[in-house]
Amino acid sequence: MAKHTVTLIPGDGIGPETTAAMQRVVEAAGADIEWEVAEAGAHLMEEFGTPLPPATIDAVRKNKVAIKGPVTTPVGTGFRSVNVALRQALDLNVCLRPVLSIPGAGGRYEDVDLVIVRENSEDLYAGIEFEEGTPDALDLIDFIEEKGAGTIRKDSGISIKPISKTASRNIVEYAFDYAERQGYKKVTAAHKANIMKHSDGLFLRTAREVAEEHPSIEFNDNIIDAFCMNIVMDPSQFDVIVFPNLYGDIASDLCAGLVGGLGIAPGANIGPEYAIFEAVHGSAPDIAGKDVCNPTAEILSAAMMLDHLGEQDIAAKIRAAVRKVYADGSVLTADIRKATGSNTAPASCTEFTDAVIQAL
Ligand code: NAD
Repeated sequence: MAKHTVTLIPGDGIGPETTAAMQRVVEAAGADIEWEVAEAGAHLMEEFGTPLPPATIDAVRKNKVAIKGPVTTPVGTGFRSVNVALRQALDLNVCLRPVLSIPGAGGRYEDVDLVIVRENSEDLYAGIEFEEGTPDALDLIDFIEEKGAGTIRKDSGISIKPISKTASRNIVEYAFDYAERQGYKKVTAAHKANIMKHSDGLFLRTAREVAEEHPSIEFNDNIIDAFCMNIVMDPSQFDVIVFPNLYGDIASDLCAGLVGGLGIAPGANIGPEYAIFEAVHGSAPDIAGKDVCNPTAEILSAAMMLDHLGEQDIAAKIRAAVRKVYADGSVLTADIRKATGSNTAPASCTEFTDAVIQAL
C-alpha cells in the first residue's frame, strides 16, 4: 500500500474530537497516512488576524488532499466563513454528499441511497454583499431603479445571487459523470426557475442541455419546495440530485435527517486539482469538548478520502466496521440514541470509536 501525505485541519468546536477519532480509525484500518496538521478556526483570530492563515491554504495546495473538522462562523459579523474561503481559494467547485441509510442509526427510512451534488462556488454564497445604509448599497439601489429593474427599500441590505452557465455546466456534468460511474440511473435538478428566471432559470436550461448529452441517464427536475416534500414522502424516487449552492446546503441537512441526522452524514469538496473531505455538520458548540459527539460523519468522510486516494479496500473495511457497530446497537452516541428513541445510556465519542476499531 502506498504512503499518502494528507493535510489534517482539526477545526474548532467538536472538530478536534471528531478528527482525532477519524485518525484513530484510519490508522487502525491499516492506511499508511502521514498527517500534516494545519490550523483553521476562530481561535486563530488573535494571533493571525484571520481564521484561515495562508499557510493552511498552502498546506492543502502542497498535499492536494485534506480532511477537516468543522469551523465556527459567527452569524452576522465581519468574520468570513473559512469553508467558503477554502472552497473559493482552491477552486473546490463540487460539493459531494452521499446520503445512505445505516441500519440501526434511527433513520426515517431503511433504504435511502442518494447523492447530493451541490455547486460550491457561486449563488448567494459568492460573498458579494452590500451592508444596509452604506453609500455602495444606496448607489446600487439607485442604479437598479434607474434601469427600471424594480424598487428596493432604501434601508435594505443586499446579497447578490450570481449563477453562471460555466459553473452550472460544470456541476451538472459532474452529476451525470458521477451517476454513470457509480451506476445510478437518474439525475434530478432542483431549482426555483419559475421565480428566478435569470439565475435558477439559467441553471435549469443548462442542466437540460447537459442531460441531452447523457441519454443513458434519466433526467428530471423539481422546483425546490416541491422537492422538499417529495423527498420526505419518498426518497426512493431520487438517485443523484444536483443543486445550486444554497438549496444544496439546505437539502444536505434535510437529507441527513432522513437517515439518522448530521452525526452520520459525510461529504467532500472537490475541484480539478484539490479535494477536502469533511462531515456535513458544523462545529456543534453546544456539545464541544464533552466527548459526546458522534464521529461517524468524519469517519465516513475519511472513507470517501481513501476511495479518492485509491485505497478502496481500506475504505470498504471502515464502512463495514461502522455498519457493524450500528447493527449491533449496543455502543451508540447520544444523537443516535435520541434518533432511535432508545433510553439506553449513550456511549461517548471515545467508546464509539473504540467499538468501530474493534469491528475492523
Ligand atoms: P451544527 O451542525 O454544528 O449543529 C446542529 C445540531 O446538530 C446541534 O444540536 C449539534 O449538537 C448537532 N450535531 C452536529 N454534529 C453532531 C455530531 N457529530 N454529533 C452529535 N450531534 C451533532 O450546526 P449549527 O449549530 O448551525 O452550526 C454551528 C457552527 O458550525 C456555525 O458557526 C456554523 O457556521 C458552523 N458550520 C460549519 C460547517 C463546516 O465547517 N463545514 C458546516 C456547517 C456549519
